[in-house]
Amino acid sequence: MIRKALRLVEAEAQKNTRHIRRIGSICYILRSKSKFDQLTSNLIKDYKRAMAGEAPRHYERYKEAEACSKDEIHALIDICQSMHMVMLRGSGSTNAYVSSRMNPGELVCTCKGFRMTGECSHIIAVTMEYIEDADCVEGRSSYDKAYLETLVEKLESTTRAAHRPRATVGGARIQPDTDTVRGNAGEDSSDLDDDLDEL
Ligand SMILES: [Zn+2]
Repeated sequence: MIRKALRLVEAEAQKNTRHIRRIGSICYILRSKSKFDQLTSNLIKDYKRAMAGEAPRHYERYKEAEACSKDEIHALIDICQSMHMVMLRGSGSTNAYVSSRMNPGELVCTCKGFRMTGECSHIIAVTMEYIEDADCVEGRSSYDKAYLETLVEKLESTTRAAHRPRATVGGARIQPDTDTVRGNAGEDSSDLDDDLDEL
């Protein structure tokens, strides 16, 4: 989750990409599995209209589709599944958050991962990018990229220690081939939150 948040922010730092946008007290994050490669303001407008039950106005595939056709529904699905919304405090979100060290600003995300665990890569990325200490609840503070990288390093060293094979004990216990140092393979699905969305 933390690794994915770091990847989201790093992708954003690359030239010519736009996956995270803050408009007022809401942040929009383009899903990696969406049909779009840029988070444009027209796409956000279409998304907000679709969420409000109104017809999108900008997406070409939607505009070109015949009314009430399967193509039109698929185009609408493209828009509805294109992004997640992270709501900052004061954006009128419900009190559906769980305050924690990773969510010191009590953000709320629309993804299913957040609904299941109260944490997700999107709120971590938004906290890292947009939340200052002053935006956090009393007694909590924000964090930056360097802090998250330190956490990941700690996690990786702990995991390596846990997977280290035990010392051989006489000839009675034979180490299985698979029980060896494996680094962090399989630990962090590249798209955990999106995988959860499929549930
Ligand atoms: Zn999320």
